[in-house]
Amino acid sequence: MPIATLASLPDIAGKRVLLRSDLNVPIKDGNITDDGRIRASLPTINHLRALGAKVIVMAHFGRPKGVRVPEMSLEPVARRLGELLGANVAFISEYRGGKASDAIGKMQPGDVVLLENVRYEAAETSKVDEERLLFAQDLASLGDIYVSDGFGAVHRKHASVYDIATLLPHFAGFLISAEIEVLKRLTVNPVRPYGVVLGGSKVSDKLGVIKNLLDKVDLLAIGGGMVFTFLAAQGHEVGKSLLEADQLDEVRALITQAKEAGVTLLLPTDIVVAPAFAADSPATVVAAHEIPADQLGLDIGPVSGAAFAEAISGCKTLFWNGPMGVFEFDAFAAGTKAVAQALAELDGFTVVGGGDSAAAVRRLGFRDEEFGYISTGGGASLEYLEGKALPGITVLEQ
Ligand code: ADP
Ligand code: MG
Repeated sequence: MPIATLASLPDIAGKRVLLRSDLNVPIKDGNITDDGRIRASLPTINHLRALGAKVIVMAHFGRPKGVRVPEMSLEPVARRLGELLGANVAFISEYRGGKASDAIGKMQPGDVVLLENVRYEAAETSKVDEERLLFAQDLASLGDIYVSDGFGAVHRKHASVYDIATLLPHFAGFLISAEIEVLKRLTVNPVRPYGVVLGGSKVSDKLGVIKNLLDKVDLLAIGGGMVFTFLAAQGHEVGKSLLEADQLDEVRALITQAKEAGVTLLLPTDIVVAPAFAADSPATVVAAHEIPADQLGLDIGPVSGAAFAEAISGCKTLFWNGPMGVFEFDAFAAGTKAVAQALAELDGFTVVGGGDSAAAVRRLGFRDEEFGYISTGGGASLEYLEGKALPGITVLEQ
C-alpha cells in the first residue's frame, strides 16, 4: 500500500492525534544550540492544529536507556516549541498507565502537548517485540490516530516509531514526505556527476553506506574522524587520532573497490593536528602521512579543503554528511567551512544530512537557503542511501 500522507487525513476536528516528531536537538548547559529539528516539525504541527486536532507530540532525546536522566528531559524543548508555535505547549512528564488521561481530556481543538522523552522507558527501544508493543499500546490509548514525522528516528524499530503504527490509523507528516522525496532524487537517476562527501566520527557506522555508494557515485570524498582509519589502512602513522583498528581490512577492500568502480576517492593530503582534543590546543598543519606520534588530527588541512572544494564544484548532485573536523572548536572548523562554502556556491542539487552537519553549517554562519536541502536525518538518510529498509517507513506502507 502506498503511504497515506496528510492529504488523505479524515476529518480530525476534535480528534486526538499522536504525532511522533524528531526533536533531538543539541543542548549545551541547558540551552538549545540549534533548533533546526524543532523548526522542521512545525509545518505538520501547525497543519494538524489548523484542522482542529488535539496534538500530542512524542519525541526522544539522547540515549537515556530507560533511566530518567534529568539532563535528557524534553522540558526545554517544550518551551522552545511553544515559542516557535506562539502557543502554550503543556509538558506531560508522566503518561504511563493512564496518568496523562486528565491532562489530555482537558485539551481543546488546536492545543499541543509534549510527552516526556519516550526513551525514559526502556520498552521504547527494547529488542523484545512484546515489550515494545505493550508500551506502544499504552501510548496508543492516548490518541485516535497516529502521524509519523520524526524522520531522524525512522531507521529505528522503536515503540513510538514502529509498533504504534500497527495499532492506529497512520499517516506520514510533511517532513517525512519531504525527506523521502529528496532521498529519491539522490537514488533514482541523480544528475551527474554525483559526489558524496562523508566525515564525522564513526567509521563503522558509515562503512556500509560507502560500500553501497561505490557503484552509484562519481566522487567520494572522505574527511573528519574517518580519515585516519583510511590513512592507517594505507600504512601511515596516525598518532593519537581517532582510529577504528578493527576496520582496517574492510577499508582496504573499499579502497580497492573504489578503484575498480572508477570512483574518484578523495582523501586529505594535509591535516590540522594538535597535542590534545581541546579548543585551545596549539594547531599545526602537517602532511597526512606525517602525523606526529604524540598528536591527533582534528581537521583536514587547507590544501585538502581547497581540493575538496574544487572536486565538489565539478558535481551536479552533492550529498554531504559528517563534519570535516571538530568544527565545535574554531581552530578546527576551516575544513568544514570550506566544504560548506563549496556546496553553497554549487550550481546543482545539494543536500546536507546529519544532526551535527546541519548544526555545523548554521554555526558557521550559512543560511539554510544556501543549500538545496538540509536533512534532519543522519543515520536514517544514510541507511536509506545504503538501500536498507527503514522500519518506521515500511510500517506506514502496511
Ligand atoms: P552527523 O551528526 O552530521 O551525522 P557525526 O555524528 O558522524 O555527524 O559526527 C560529528 C562529530 O564528528 C562532530 O561532533 C565532530 O566534532 C566530530 N569530528 C569530526 N572530525 C573529527 C576528528 N578528526 N576527530 C574527532 N572527532 C571529529
Ligand atoms: Mg551526530
